[in-house]
Amino acid sequence: MTGKIAAVYGSLVIAETGDRVVQNSVGYCVRSDGVRLLSEVVRVRGQRADLQVFEDTRGLKVGNAVEFTTEMLSVDLGPGLLGQVFDGLQNPLPQLAEKTGFFLEPGQYLPALPVDRSWSFTPAVKPGDIVVAGSTLGTVPEGIFTHQIMVPFGWQGTFTVERIVADGGYAIDREIAVLKDMNGQERPVTMQQRWPVKVPLNVSRRRLMPTEPLVTRVRIIDSMFPIVRGGTYCIPGPFGAGKTVLQQITSRNAEIDVVIVAACGERAGEVVDTLREFPELTDPRTGKSLMDRTIIICNTSAMPVAAREASVYTAATLAEYYRQMGLHVLMLADSTSRWAQAMRELSGRLEEIPGEEAFPAYLESRIAAFYERAGAIELRDGRVGTLTIGGTVSPAGGNFEEPVTQGTLKVVGAFHGLSRARSDARRYPAIDPLDSWSKYTGIIAPAKVRKTRFLLSRGNEIRQMMTVVGEEGTSTDDFTDALLADLFDNCFLQQNAFDEVDGATPAERQVFAFDKMLEVVEVGYDFADKTEARAAVVRISDLFRNWNYAATDSEEYRRLLSEIDRFIATRGREA
Ligand code: ADP
Ligand code: MG
Repeated sequence: MTGKIAAVYGSLVIAETGDRVVQNSVGYCVRSDGVRLLSEVVRVRGQRADLQVFEDTRGLKVGNAVEFTTEMLSVDLGPGLLGQVFDGLQNPLPQLAEKTGFFLEPGQYLPALPVDRSWSFTPAVKPGDIVVAGSTLGTVPEGIFTHQIMVPFGWQGTFTVERIVADGGYAIDREIAVLKDMNGQERPVTMQQRWPVKVPLNVSRRRLMPTEPLVTRVRIIDSMFPIVRGGTYCIPGPFGAGKTVLQQITSRNAEIDVVIVAACGERAGEVVDTLREFPELTDPRTGKSLMDRTIIICNTSAMPVAAREASVYTAATLAEYYRQMGLHVLMLADSTSRWAQAMRELSGRLEEIPGEEAFPAYLESRIAAFYERAGAIELRDGRVGTLTIGGTVSPAGGNFEEPVTQGTLKVVGAFHGLSRARSDARRYPAIDPLDSWSKYTGIIAPAKVRKTRFLLSRGNEIRQMMTVVGEEGTSTDDFTDALLADLFDNCFLQQNAFDEVDGATPAERQVFAFDKMLEVVEVGYDFADKTEARAAVVRISDLFRNWNYAATDSEEYRRLLSEIDRFIATRGREA
């Protein structure tokens, strides 16, 4: 079906159509020189269709043709996704740049999956087997994983395997199986399938309550504000507070299989940083590049706004695809504020009634629907796959009282608020231990977490008082309590991301150190004469820093332990 362009407003095109077109379907606006620009039907009003063009619309004219399809904006799924960098429409960026130069030309689309590559396929079913959507037909090795080739997710009903190829090398567009549906109709299957990005992909027996802690090896997260596999969290913070660094260290150290990064940068420079830095990260699991199990979806504010808006959906769909294989996937969106701004721009063009700060009224429901795509699912064969979603929010001026932060806080399970004061003091990661929260239970019992929060807020009060009355006006009791809070803050909560040992603390070591700290704190609180306690806390802090979470068979570790044991033993003597 075709139509004609009646008006062009920036990226919005109004077309006259002969018939009714399908809402959310894909269309192509055709320039006079024949270049076809990918678009999406965002509103249908009788014989008129409004299209959002995913490309620069310069050169589009009234009277140009529009070709409509019935497909929704979709991505290609199959082996070959890992390690790639795509734009929001799943064009492989490096290859695209090679073809059209650094300034990407509108209307250029490339296959997302390499067609010339041969994958070594091993069948998992035989003729006569009964399969349904999502059933594994065979596997191919991809990086460190076994990629499952599955029956297309949208297929309804049961199928009988009619034919399946033997072990061997096949390209993704080769027919690997023929299935017969209940009406006896034969349906060919390749290793590749498509899925609409705005429809959650979840072919499973049921959703599970996410409860298994996702260990990130960032101590303040795992011990105090934990996240779980299949859960959601957000990292709001002002510019430069460490959102991107935090996402990079979690990508590298978190105990998950696949990382999907949706990089929506403020400026091109930031996204270029991500693209440059990410491939240099080594995977502690393999010693090779982290990119081997990563996909980056990347766009900048220089790219057309509709493509920016689509990119988080593209990323979520790829993440769901790997979850469908029974893997643990972590999707990071940096930053969701840019995505929300794209939504605001699109809504403004459509002249929709604006809500708070000119964001569309549906902002909150879109944010909620996005985080809803996270979750733990039980696959039909009993395996469990999880998708954890973490999004950064970059509110102007670090003010959390704005619609995107507030809308996000309503739906996520954990909140890691970065504080300007902490990042300015280089207390990294700059997660504010007094403001942040998590609804999940992690590796530390909640009662113990509450104790440390009390300790920290008491330490904070004393420090504030000290800025008024000075050190000499502070009692030894109070001063010692503040030192105990500092011990916990400096030696446990703060962590140098760039130190090989300190940068990643395994769960057992965190639990051990947390418990020891808490013991020291309890003994310290109990002391009748705190002068002695105060000196001991200073010594323990120094020894802790020396040890720095290194091996437990080191001399530093033994000295720390014996100092702590001596301190604990004094409790008995005092009482
Ligand atoms: P944001 O994404 O919030 O704008 P970045 O993540 O780019 O901020 O961090 C800005 C700078 O702060 C980094 O380049 C780095 O020097 C420093 N930084 C941030 N987090 C850490 C950390 N955990 N450890 C050490 N330095 C950090
Ligand atoms: Mg950043």
